[in-house]
Amino acid sequence: MTSASPRIAIVGAAGRMGRVLIAAVNQDAESELAAATVRPGSSLAGADLGELAGVGRLGIAAVDSLEAVVDDIDVLIDFTTPQLTLSNLAFCAEHGKAIVIGTTGLSDAELDELDSYRDQVPMVFAPNMSVGVNLTLKLLEIAARTLGDEGYDIEVIEAHHRHKVDAPSGTALRMGEVVAAAVDRNLKEHGVFERVGQCGPRDAKEIGFATVRAGDIVGEHTVMFATEGERIEVTHKASSRMTFARGAVRAARWVSGRSAGRYGMDDVLGLEDISGA
Ligand code: NAD
Repeated sequence: MTSASPRIAIVGAAGRMGRVLIAAVNQDAESELAAATVRPGSSLAGADLGELAGVGRLGIAAVDSLEAVVDDIDVLIDFTTPQLTLSNLAFCAEHGKAIVIGTTGLSDAELDELDSYRDQVPMVFAPNMSVGVNLTLKLLEIAARTLGDEGYDIEVIEAHHRHKVDAPSGTALRMGEVVAAAVDRNLKEHGVFERVGQCGPRDAKEIGFATVRAGDIVGEHTVMFATEGERIEVTHKASSRMTFARGAVRAARWVSGRSAGRYGMDDVLGLEDISGA
């Protein structure tokens, strides 16, 4: 199979992202929707993927194990849970498949385990697959390098729908890491994730996080650089999950047929050098 037309499997087909991913792969002329999985024993096993995604019948049935389709697929797209993502990485290592991972909320130990597959599996791992967010990360790097150590306080504010299970979002944390690195700070040391009661004045080097969970908000992130006299805000607002899904399909086309390695959306989009870093 050439990387130009990879055969894609979506895992977690019944999820919010899973359904949109089916629609996105189906719309993409340069890849093939080969399979999609639901939980083992799910009543949705056997359901038509197009009907699941609300795009009309496609004639491809959901399966409840990847083993059932192992010879029909080149690359997985996985927006599920940390545990399932790690077991899918083991599957990819065993069967020589590539993977695009959008799952967020991995613990440090889970991230280490994910990283241990970098020599065996071609993987794109990014907490946010939208082209706009990845460009925003570059804008933040430039802003932080210019402003960060000149008395500007840095705060990250994010909002998501009521069903999201991890906080702050993987994207907010990534934004925090990018600005921290740009001003030579360590997010583990300077990140502040909770303020309540008599918490005292702000430390100049803090990078604060605030989280909103409400309704059907798809995903909004603002990084604020504030000093006496002015405030700069860099904001990204996603209004449809299709933006993440299209980015994931682009990543799947890019990673299929590549050598093993852990890649980011920077690599997929060719953004590494945009800020001259
Ligand atoms: P969701 O709960 O709607 O979907 C998760 C899916 O995983 C469900 O269909 C569930 O059945 C499936 N699943 C869980 N365990 C399974 C198992 N053992 N076997 C088979 N399927 C299993 O969640 P969502 O809103 O679609 O988000 C999924 C993940 O993607 C979250 O971590 C979220 O933060 C992340 N996300 C990332 C991006 C990005 O651009 N990287 C964008 C949106 C969401």
